[in-house]
Amino acid sequence: MFEVVIGLEVHVQLNTKTKLFCSCPTSFAEHQNSNTCPTCLALPGALPVANKEAIIKAMRFGYAIDANVNETSIFDRKSYFYPDSPSAYQITQFYKPILTDGKILIKDKDGNDKFVTIREAHLEADAGKSMHEGNISKVDLNRAGTPLLEIVSNPDMRSSDEAVDYLKKLHSIVRYIDISDANMQEGSFRCDVNVSIRPKGQKEFGTRVEIKNINSFRFVKQAIEYEVNRQIEAYEDGVYEKEIWQETRLFDSNSGKTRSMRGKEEAADYRYFPDPDLRPVIVTQEMIDEAKKIPELPDEKVERYVNELKIKKYDAEVITAQKELANYFEELLNSGANVKLAVTWLTQELLGRLNKLGLSIENSPISSKVLSNLIAKIDDGTISGKGAKDVLDFMLENEDYDVDAIIDKLGLKQVSDDGAILAIIDEVLANNEDKVAEFKAGKEKLFGFFVGQVMKASKGSANPQKVNELLKQRLS
Ligand code: ADP
Ligand code: MG
Ligand code: ZN
Repeated sequence: MFEVVIGLEVHVQLNTKTKLFCSCPTSFAEHQNSNTCPTCLALPGALPVANKEAIIKAMRFGYAIDANVNETSIFDRKSYFYPDSPSAYQITQFYKPILTDGKILIKDKDGNDKFVTIREAHLEADAGKSMHEGNISKVDLNRAGTPLLEIVSNPDMRSSDEAVDYLKKLHSIVRYIDISDANMQEGSFRCDVNVSIRPKGQKEFGTRVEIKNINSFRFVKQAIEYEVNRQIEAYEDGVYEKEIWQETRLFDSNSGKTRSMRGKEEAADYRYFPDPDLRPVIVTQEMIDEAKKIPELPDEKVERYVNELKIKKYDAEVITAQKELANYFEELLNSGANVKLAVTWLTQELLGRLNKLGLSIENSPISSKVLSNLIAKIDDGTISGKGAKDVLDFMLENEDYDVDAIIDKLGLKQVSDDGAILAIIDEVLANNEDKVAEFKAGKEKLFGFFVGQVMKASKGSANPQKVNELLKQRLS
């Protein structure tokens, strides 16, 4: 039996207005190389100046994950040559990163809470992009110098599910605190996965393989599972020492396999040294105050939902997993929706339908205002749950969001008037005298039969709660 060991390095693109060391915009540009200047083109003599907004955003992440925000940190040069990095070095933080020792709460395989510890997070500049067209390669430096926060976990994860849970939580947090749009398709949130195995009970870690630059949760899971199998097989075949070595691999999403890219560099290969053009980063009280402006985070929300709103933990976790969903839910409550109904109608009825339509909560055609109108109609007995589902379907099909008008149009109003319901009840009981006698003789199961008959006679329009109440009265 083997234990899987995983550590992740995640690159989060910070959503600052300008790049990390110059005032070029980070916005998407129509034209290649238009968001550039002498600094990010690495022209001789141009000097970098660190972007305060990026530093504050990194600090904010630190406070959000209970990390040490270091008063002084240093920018270092990491030397390597690549065509999309014109300076032949990357500016990063190696010896003294801005953040150390944080933690992130995830679920282990039994569904229990578990912390993944964060070794460090550091600021660094992104490279440009190389584009290959036939025989020609072109370089676009619009992205060069864009600020990244690289978040390095300790090797604390023990399965692909834990790794994905960690990534989802991290993704959620950076979006809650608004330091990144974390758009994975656009590469604003990408990760390197380090995987090793060891026989259960062995103390030392096995040899780790690093899989570079994966930008989807699904691919992370696939890559880990492929890699774990490859390593276990090598172990069982007695060729672990020979075939598993510290290397960098690439994940091919078409084949679902990883393949070797290059041997893993050692730190010494990069000749790290402090960048003489940049002063140490020293955080001021003003920056600390700004960085500490943090909204309520998912873990805190779960606690409040469970303790104050009496919501089930599982539901609270679903709702808070995404900032937009939590916001939507809180809007429902603010407009007076019943908590229990809000949970069900958001997480099951609305989300279920949006999923089928391929929509997310941000582009839900049904606003929180409309859904809370609908919930109010269930809450006060105007319509049944079944009727409310019809209204929801009608709204999505017809792009008509007038709850009252739709209830009228579809004739969904429940009859809650005692007199009207009693009239139906009496008719049903009169038509079933034999069953009434059986009921009175002790066959209590027949109660359900009577409810069914009354509902049927009312063509489903009677308020079931009222029917129950009044039937009980009549039969006692
Ligand atoms: P490097 O700087 O060469 O990338 P690090 O020691 O910084 O190496 O580790 C990088 C990542 O690899 C970290 O996220 C760490 O948790 C993870 N890691 C280290 N050792 C192992 C291992 N044996 N198995 C899996 N992951 C590991
Ligand atoms: Mg590393
Ligand atoms: Zn620039």
